[in-house]
Amino acid sequence: MKNRERSAQLHEQAMDVILGGVNSPSRSFKAVGGGAPVSMERAQGAYFWDVDGNQYIDYLAAYGPIITGHAHPHVTQAITEAAANGTLYGTPTPWEITFANMIRKAIPSMERIRFNNSGTEAVMTCIRVARAYTNRIKVIKFAGCYHGHSDLVLVAAGSGPSTLGIPDSAGIPQSIANEVITVPFNDKQAFADAIEKWGSETACVLVEPIVGNFGIVEPEPGFLEEVNRLTHAAGALVVYDEVITAFRFCYGGAQNLLGVEPDLTALGKIIGGGLPIGAYGGRREIMEQVAPLGPAYQAGTMAGNPASIRAGIACLEVLSQPGVYEEFERLGEMLAAGIREAAQKHGVKIQLNRVKGAMAVYFIDEPVYDYDTAQKADSEVFARFFRLLLEEGICIAPSKYEAWFITTAHTEQDIVKTIAAVDRCFAAL
Ligand code: PMP
Repeated sequence: MKNRERSAQLHEQAMDVILGGVNSPSRSFKAVGGGAPVSMERAQGAYFWDVDGNQYIDYLAAYGPIITGHAHPHVTQAITEAAANGTLYGTPTPWEITFANMIRKAIPSMERIRFNNSGTEAVMTCIRVARAYTNRIKVIKFAGCYHGHSDLVLVAAGSGPSTLGIPDSAGIPQSIANEVITVPFNDKQAFADAIEKWGSETACVLVEPIVGNFGIVEPEPGFLEEVNRLTHAAGALVVYDEVITAFRFCYGGAQNLLGVEPDLTALGKIIGGGLPIGAYGGRREIMEQVAPLGPAYQAGTMAGNPASIRAGIACLEVLSQPGVYEEFERLGEMLAAGIREAAQKHGVKIQLNRVKGAMAVYFIDEPVYDYDTAQKADSEVFARFFRLLLEEGICIAPSKYEAWFITTAHTEQDIVKTIAAVDRCFAAL
């Protein structure tokens, strides 16, 4: 057993002053049997080191943003320069224009862009803008997709193909939940039924074009096209939540990879280069609803701060280099093939979903294509696998619903080591 005494001590101290010991619930080990989460102290490239000095290969990538690996020199230089020149002005700056142009060039549907501070804010504002533009209230979303922690999107799926929402959190008024309709992902019929019933009252349909919040789930061929067609026929807007997906699978959004276009897009994570950020944008006449041009309000003291913006520019510069996404594909396929082989060898039933350098391992013997099938994956086996991996010095998220992320810092050697570790874990399961 690795020594994690200091992590345990810190957890006790944290429990006394930080609610639940963590600043985001997904960091707790609650879903994997409890106990002290590992406290990290230093990170470099594809590795980090905990407070007891143990080293790990990192596939958590901070839940997505760290796509160039930790402390990438180009990103670090940008942040250092930004810090030395003042981190916040409360005025326009040149860098935000450069960055908005970079994003628009990569994701042309974002004709006008606003930066803010988190994915939560970006999605929340897309909904407000869609409501302002359509003068309608209801929102249709897909079961199991996470869109941040604003009231409106923390509504779970009920049973049945399409249900009016029940809040997934205390503190959310039923009146708000009533405005959200949840349908299963990849279910054209359920979506058509929801549009039939509520389409004329719907402001927008909120979609993760490739799902990253119950593992990794791709849309079935034609699904997103059908969502676009029916949504627009009903006079509603399509909002893509690309907080996880943008710049993950290609230099652009999943929308560019898949050839489907939303009216509004929300971004976050990767585009901050490891610093806090969010952004939203879309068709010009829709975005012109927002103040100071229009009647919908959105603002932010920290929005467009030069540190986040310059880190984001540097991160996209790294990702725009030739061969980056080809390498994600190559290493991703190598890791996936190794894990599948190990599973077969040890008779462990898994389903592995992967797009480029992002993948999910489900302990289940059937395809995972929506939230229901993802939920059926064995949580108890996952918890044991997670802890065995940690002992092997491999770090993934402590939840069966989170993806593994390969970064530009991962090498073939890291993948080979990881496959060998997974093989031993499967043998021990
Ligand atoms: N949308 C998606 C698809 C996400 O995965 C997340 C965060 N995991 C969010 C929105 C919320 O982003 P943030 O945590 O930056 O508020």
